[in-house]
Amino acid sequence: MKIFLSADMEGICGVTVWPETERTAPMDYTPIQKQMTLEVSAACRGALAAGAEEVVVKDAHDSGRNIDPAQLPRKVKLHRAWSGDPLSMMTGLNDDHYDGVFFTGYHAWAGCPGNPLSHTMNGRNNRVRLNGMDCSEFLINAYTAGYYGVPVALVTGDKALCDFAKQLIPAVTTVAVNEGRGGGVTAIHPEEAVERIEEAAKEAIKNAPLCAVPMPDSFHMEIEFVKHPVAYSKSFYPGACLKEDKTVCFSSKDWYEVLRFCHFVLSDG
Ligand SMILES: [Zn+2]
Repeated sequence: MKIFLSADMEGICGVTVWPETERTAPMDYTPIQKQMTLEVSAACRGALAAGAEEVVVKDAHDSGRNIDPAQLPRKVKLHRAWSGDPLSMMTGLNDDHYDGVFFTGYHAWAGCPGNPLSHTMNGRNNRVRLNGMDCSEFLINAYTAGYYGVPVALVTGDKALCDFAKQLIPAVTTVAVNEGRGGGVTAIHPEEAVERIEEAAKEAIKNAPLCAVPMPDSFHMEIEFVKHPVAYSKSFYPGACLKEDKTVCFSSKDWYEVLRFCHFVLSDG
C-alpha cells in the first residue's frame, strides 16, 4: 500500500498571518515550519503504522522547500520545489499506483471567512468557482486524485475546509486544527494536533477504500481576478472566455484540460 501526501502550510496548527508562511521572515516562519514538519511526520508515521509500505510527500507550499526531510520517517520520499507540470501540488501522483491521498496543512478557499489566509492558489483572484461551488486548492487536488482513481482519505487544516471535505467525501477522516474568525484563529495545542493527526492517519488507511472522489461528468471553472488587465490577458487561453471584465471562464469534460487551464491561467504569474 502506497500513500501520496500533499502538504500545505496555511492550515498548520496556529498559523494566523502571512509572514508565518514565508521563509524571508524567519522569526515568524520557523515555529510554523517546525510544526508543519511535525504534522507531516505524524501523518506519515500513522500511515506506516497502519500498513502503508511507502509514503511520497509533495512539499506543496510556496518554494516547496519547507519540510525538514531529516525529521521524516525513513520510508518517506519527499518531492521538493516545483517540477512545473499541471499536477502542481500533486506532482508525481500519476507516476505510480497509489492507494490513498492525504492532505495536511490545507486551508479554505478564496473569499472564505474560515481562515484569515484563505485563498485559491494565489492572491491574484477574488474567488474561483467550479461547477457553481467555491473552489479551494483542496477541491482542485481532490479531483486530480479522483481523475487518477485514487481515494482521498485524510484532510487536516482549518475547520471550514475540513467541513467542506466531509460534505464532498463523507468517509474522509479530518483533523481541524484551527478555527478562523476574521483576522484571527483559535487553534488546538500543537502537540495535540500532532497526536490527533497520527491517530487520524491510521483511521484514514482503514477507511481509504470508502473515500472515492465523486467525479462530475463535466467541469466549468470561473476565475474572478482582482485586476481586469490580468483577466483580459488570461482570456486568450485556448477555449477560455471573458465575462464581466474580470472573470475568465473555461469548460471541459476532461479534468486534465481543466488542470492545464489552471496551470497557465490560475497559477501562473
Ligand atoms: Zn500554501
